[in-house]
Amino acid sequence: MNTVDAAGAPEPFASLADEAAALDAADPLAAVRDEFIGAESTLVYFDGNSLGRPLHRSAERLERFVHEQWGGRLIRGWDESWMELPFQIGDTIGRSAIGAAPGQTVIGDSTTVLLYKLIRAAFDAQHASDPARVEIVVDTDNFPTDRYLVEGIATERGGRVRWIDVDRASGVTAEALHAAVGPQTAVVVLSQIAYRSGYLADAPALTRIAHEAGALILWDLCHSAGSVAIEADAWGFDLAVGCTYKYLNGGPGSPAFAYVAGRHQASLAQPIQGWMGNADVFAMGPEYVPSPGMRRFLSGTPPIVGMLALQDTLALIEDVGIDAIRTKSIALTEFSIRLADELLAGLGVTVASPRDAAERGGHVTLQHPSMRAVTATLWAQDVIPDYRDPGGLRIGLSPLSTSFAETLAGMIAVRDAVTAAGRP
Ligand SMILES: *Cc1c(COP(=O)(O)O)cnc(C)c1O
Repeated sequence: MNTVDAAGAPEPFASLADEAAALDAADPLAAVRDEFIGAESTLVYFDGNSLGRPLHRSAERLERFVHEQWGGRLIRGWDESWMELPFQIGDTIGRSAIGAAPGQTVIGDSTTVLLYKLIRAAFDAQHASDPARVEIVVDTDNFPTDRYLVEGIATERGGRVRWIDVDRASGVTAEALHAAVGPQTAVVVLSQIAYRSGYLADAPALTRIAHEAGALILWDLCHSAGSVAIEADAWGFDLAVGCTYKYLNGGPGSPAFAYVAGRHQASLAQPIQGWMGNADVFAMGPEYVPSPGMRRFLSGTPPIVGMLALQDTLALIEDVGIDAIRTKSIALTEFSIRLADELLAGLGVTVASPRDAAERGGHVTLQHPSMRAVTATLWAQDVIPDYRDPGGLRIGLSPLSTSFAETLAGMIAVRDAVTAAGRP
């Protein structure tokens, strides 16, 4: 069970420790935490939204793969199972995490490369069918890679970027998107959960607004896949890309997934035409003929080793259900905001995340000028949040691997570090 228990909290926080213990005792997902490597230590991990912890069973899976599959089957493995793995795991992501029917989700390259391929494909298709559609809409607080890609694609294809200026403590609202889209819009690129503030966008409403303007919309699901319910098909998503090393615990640099709605697959041409996207991979013919279905969005040899571990988290998600995960996620973020108000507000720390749970994803950002130094202090003490400029300490609360006692211990450590940083 959780080793950061009620007895571990210093005396002045005894009632909070009781509360954390009660929340852990009532948590239906509490036992899942013990399935993660490192759960037994007193380390506080507040960064599962950046790099999820590994499951014990993933270590076993990887070891087994090296001995039995790679070592035993050798090159035969491609024919026997590996060629199909990106599609198989993609369909499992579709079913367990993003509400997509089979045949629309695939594991591909990094998030950045998949974003490039899909945004460019969508821009080209839109611009070809209506030359007036020259704008890509993106917000100023979207993740850097998304913004840089959009700028690059606009330059490369003779388009324009239409920026939505957003408040860094929230995100893109329906009104803001409404004002930015029109007959000139080709594609809209938004994150469902803002990486800085944790703002949870109203994805169904924003998708409708993009469609009413005749635009396609691409959702970046990096901070949402595995932490909130997503209904890609039901909400009418056109395209989506998401990370697997965050809430899906795929391991450092594990490859991303792409979702392309069935209705668009045949009309989208992605720019990195490699042999793995060809209609007949092993024909090795003279020219590129895009494969039907999701295969056309692949380029080179699939990164099989990188896509092994995330299957264990997908199985866990199917087992406990995304709704239970979201319920715990909300409870964890509520608890951490309450602790921030109680322990940190007096030190000048503010909450730079939405206070309404319906508008908040799985992390909470705390704002204070000394947070960069505070992060370094905390890391040295095995309390691991991360830092995002300007002055933002991100408290990432991964519902499957984080306990309430751990959250309390970490927030007390934040309080001590901010207090120490304030002393001359
Ligand atoms: C983490 C993250 C990425 C990361 O992209 P990589 O290509 O994996 O480095 C992209 N977009 C968002 C919104 C993210 O949170």
